[in-house]
Amino acid sequence: MRVPMIAGNWKMYRTAREAAQTIRTLRGLVGEVTDVDVVVCPPFTALPAALEAASDSRIGIGAQDCHWGKEGAYTGEVAVPMLADLGCSHVIVGHSERRQFFGETDATVDRKIEAVLAHGLTCIGCLGETLQEREAGQTLQVLERQLRGGFARHLHSPRLVIAYEPVWAIGTGRTATPAQAQEAHAFLRGLVAAVADPDVAAAIRILYGGSVKPENIVALMAQPDMDGALVGGASLDPSSFARIVKFRG
Ligand code: PEP
Repeated sequence: MRVPMIAGNWKMYRTAREAAQTIRTLRGLVGEVTDVDVVVCPPFTALPAALEAASDSRIGIGAQDCHWGKEGAYTGEVAVPMLADLGCSHVIVGHSERRQFFGETDATVDRKIEAVLAHGLTCIGCLGETLQEREAGQTLQVLERQLRGGFARHLHSPRLVIAYEPVWAIGTGRTATPAQAQEAHAFLRGLVAAVADPDVAAAIRILYGGSVKPENIVALMAQPDMDGALVGGASLDPSSFARIVKFRG
């Protein structure tokens, strides 16, 4: 039985004070939800305030990226042990904005996932095709390359969560249809069965991300291979995010 996860990616929005306020409001709205894993990923600078605001609640706090090393001469980077020391429980890795703007590759995704899992945190690893790749009929090939290149060595970890995020649906208001999302999720689950084994495939959670809103979450979650969502824009508003978390009604 896969417990759904609804994770919010706040990207480069919210100061520490704003983050604390938003999480306090969110606690009031989702405090009684026990059948969904709720995670919020603010910017690095807001993590301590977010952690304090979420303390003694079921809301997990995560980072949006990390470095793969334990420490070292990597100006501007943040290591997983530093996130663990703060109390973070999750890290997003391989988001398409990291791939597009900051040179993230399948090889760096592989190293970052390894580091997150090695330090006991849950990793939300992202993959997904661009519009150009979809229109060229290459979606499944791209997903296979990304999964084999970045995720394959880590699939046996129960703390690895896959987030399928078609790049053309992120921040565009254009959501994949439930059928398009299901096709990709079923393909990924089949691939996990082939690369790891069928038990791993049955247990691994695959989230969808790309313009998820209260209005489309129910239809997406009705798909058999849908185990939750990674939510960008709509996660910044606690009442929208809470409605997504409470997709069961
Ligand atoms: C994201 O940032 O991972 C995302 C899915 O963004 P949005 O929901 O705004 O499309």
